[in-house]
Amino acid sequence: MPDFAAPIARLIDELKRLPGIGQKTAQRLAFHLLRVTPEEALALADAIRDAKEKIRECSVCNNLTDTDPCLYCSSPTRNRKTICVVEEPHNILAVEKTRQYSGLYHVLGGALSPLQGVGPEQLKIKSLIERLKGGALEEIIICTNPTAEGEATAVYLSKLIKPLGVRVTRIGVGIPVGSDLEYADEVTMLKALEGRRDL
Ligand SMILES: [Zn+2]
Repeated sequence: MPDFAAPIARLIDELKRLPGIGQKTAQRLAFHLLRVTPEEALALADAIRDAKEKIRECSVCNNLTDTDPCLYCSSPTRNRKTICVVEEPHNILAVEKTRQYSGLYHVLGGALSPLQGVGPEQLKIKSLIERLKGGALEEIIICTNPTAEGEATAVYLSKLIKPLGVRVTRIGVGIPVGSDLEYADEVTMLKALEGRRDL
């Protein structure tokens, strides 16, 4: 790395930790932040601090939220007979974009991946099973990513949940295999939801 003043080097190093940010982009962002007014640059720092201080996991569904329970879990208008299971909180946005789903959510915090040391214990599966015990649930829609890990997680959950008498479905085709639901547009996601099949 060129000889940057220590505070600049530190800023570049921090920016490089962000996903998708390499050395060049980090440098460009760092010099941009140094060029704008202190207020503009510190607004970013404040937003990060504010979000980190106020955002936590919903104690029911593990979605990221500033209220507990989150807006979905506490909503009086959501359909409480269906839970859509996703890997990460941002996957909820992909489902919400369709405007056709009004049930609840459960965030697993990842997908099963034995090679990376992610087993059932590392995911929020126990709390999902606890939520099924009230008896009001009719369907679990497994909305994990269409990757090997996402599919393995879907199969695992279906074997666990079906004996409890709850219908388990998996979102349908349309989303490219190996991709993240994050990148599915509304129409694709809607078709995937509508085309869900029993597991
Ligand atoms: Zn919640």
